Amino acid sequence: MTLAQLFQHQNICGKDVYVVDDHHRAQAPWALVRRQLGQAPNLITIDHHTDVYEAFLGHAHLETWESGGDALALARELVKGIDWRDDQSLLWAIERLHHDEHIDAATMSGILNYAFCIQLSDSGGNPSIEEQAYDADRQEQSPQPPTLPAPCRPMTYEDPENHIFVISHDCAIGCNRMPHNDDCVVEHGNMVIESIYLDDQLARGAEMSRCVGIDHLEAQPYILDIDLDAFHSRQAIEPADRATFYRLIRNAVAITVATEAECVDELKFDGEAIDADFLLARLVEHIKAAIG
Ligand SMILES: [Zn+2]
Repeated sequence: MTLAQLFQHQNICGKDVYVVDDHHRAQAPWALVRRQLGQAPNLITIDHHTDVYEAFLGHAHLETWESGGDALALARELVKGIDWRDDQSLLWAIERLHHDEHIDAATMSGILNYAFCIQLSDSGGNPSIEEQAYDADRQEQSPQPPTLPAPCRPMTYEDPENHIFVISHDCAIGCNRMPHNDDCVVEHGNMVIESIYLDDQLARGAEMSRCVGIDHLEAQPYILDIDLDAFHSRQAIEPADRATFYRLIRNAVAITVATEAECVDELKFDGEAIDADFLLARLVEHIKAAIG
């Protein structure tokens, strides 16, 4: 097994695009991009899931199942063994990474600097310092009513130890249903790469990145990573306003795509006749259109 067997590489109008089936295999192209740069790139990922489990935790649970021992401590020890300069080390890692552990593996081993996750499954994301203070104030068991006003943007963030920022979201932009309902899920999913939605997500990401000294996220080298399971419908991959998505494509040092065919199938909206092959073909067209 070699690293190159883990992905398909295409050069699309001068842009390196790496396609993997299982998302954790993206570790391989991320490391190759890291080798080409004088610094670790950031990651901007668009995914249905957050993908933020600790690297090797699944493997460590299996290892400690019978013998006992601290699985998290073992996982943290194993991640130190990843050397992005060394193919064998990467192959060793990829073989032992379970679902949703690849971003942590990359940020904790210096392949990536920080990761910014645009995703549909965790509305809260990394809470800001102001949101944490507000929540703590409301939970206090004192006879006094809470005093802090609800925080508003811009907010500030702690530097996460794992270097992963999960970007929060409310609902579809402009949704004012109360409470949000199933129609919201469809509206929200359909606008995942519309400019109005990505602009909101990137503004939240900018508040996070500024707290770790990244003044302009898109001005530093970044890999754009796309999991096709972020697209739940034909409309989702055919945004009306493509300007922001195309800018993200153009300015990325490289693009990685995880096809995750089973997840695409599971997560697509009712009545949608889409699959990973269709979405990949459309995405490649977008990349050509963005660069050409
Ligand atoms: Zn809503």
